[in-house]
Amino acid sequence: MPPDAVLMENTAAVLTPRGRGAVASIRWHGDGRAVDRREPPLFRAANGRPLAEQPLGRIVFGKWGDAPEEEVVVCRRDAQTIEVHCHGGDAAVRRILSDLESVGCRTVPWTEQSGAEQRVLEAECLEALSRATTLRTADVLLEQYLGTLRSALEALRFSPFLRGGDLPAIGELLSWAEFGLHLTRPWRVVLTGRPNVGKSSLINALLGYARSIVFDQPGTTRDVVTADAAFGGWPVQLADTAGIRVAGCDIEAAGIARARAHLADADCRMVVLDTSRPCVAEDMELLAEWPEALVVANKSDLPSAWGDSLPSGALPVSSLTGAGVDALAEAIVARLVPRVPEAGTAIPVTERQISLLREAQAALKAGDDDRVQLLVDALLC
Ligand code: GDP
Repeated sequence: MPPDAVLMENTAAVLTPRGRGAVASIRWHGDGRAVDRREPPLFRAANGRPLAEQPLGRIVFGKWGDAPEEEVVVCRRDAQTIEVHCHGGDAAVRRILSDLESVGCRTVPWTEQSGAEQRVLEAECLEALSRATTLRTADVLLEQYLGTLRSALEALRFSPFLRGGDLPAIGELLSWAEFGLHLTRPWRVVLTGRPNVGKSSLINALLGYARSIVFDQPGTTRDVVTADAAFGGWPVQLADTAGIRVAGCDIEAAGIARARAHLADADCRMVVLDTSRPCVAEDMELLAEWPEALVVANKSDLPSAWGDSLPSGALPVSSLTGAGVDALAEAIVARLVPRVPEAGTAIPVTERQISLLREAQAALKAGDDDRVQLLVDALLC
């Protein structure tokens, strides 16, 4: 920007819905030098450069404001537009807006800001970002919103060798489809096991707090109880199923049916065993029914009554003492997210993006280049 350029406006608007999500996004139309001129500067980039000198389009980490400082991610979209992404929640947003007001900026609703019309791809990514519940997922979504996904899709459009050559590129994008959807939809982990083996206790141990109620009477956990957690920064919903056993009454039978439906849909299943008591046929039936499940040998604080019948690979855990719970959480993460995207990986994050990519893949395989271009254009709108 030339030194004396006249600014059309000096406004800030919050782009993400209030009070939701792990990250909030603020768009500022203004002169970055106003922030740099403050002593100390309002924004201090990790790379040491003043805000107004950061390259356009670059994602920059840094600290905002006086102590206690906010950790923020900043991106200069163009000469007069700067986006500030901070921790979700009203306090951080209010503070940044008030700091911007102190340098002459006016806070306005985002619909009143010039350039308010969002392109669909960015609007979708921003909407997904507002639903992120962990910083790790917000990080990946923010990168897509700030241009990683658009660049990958634009590369598809401009490739002079579309036929065949870009199938791997579309395949690579689609290989992240499930992961991309889970950024706003927790992975589902469902526990099963006989009554009293310690499923509720295990969920409580995994959560680190008492969420489901533990009783001694078999069959008392009648329904599917769910609880939200984050393992390794990935959002996970844990579900404790009704003890699968011959139904004692109608209510219990309904609970068992729901438990089976949950198990069928799960992203990861855990068969929980009580190794302090001898193995019975029901344990073996569950192990046979869910051969790919993680097997938890619970009550490892007590002497084992299983001897050689314990499946190899079973993870010893004590929900009572907490022994083995960390290793179990790690095993769950390894199952759910076997491949972690490196920074800069393009990831589709909505059903619309994924279904258009799938259609483009099919059209490409069928040699219909015109249709591929139409579909990629639709993605880029
Ligand atoms: P669920 O029916 O499978 O959900 O089992 P619960 O979580 O209700 O546990 C049944 C009983 O086993 C309760 O008395 C728990 O305190 C006990 N229990 C659960 N986990 C452990 C453990 O790791 N060690 C010991 N010693 N007792 C446990």
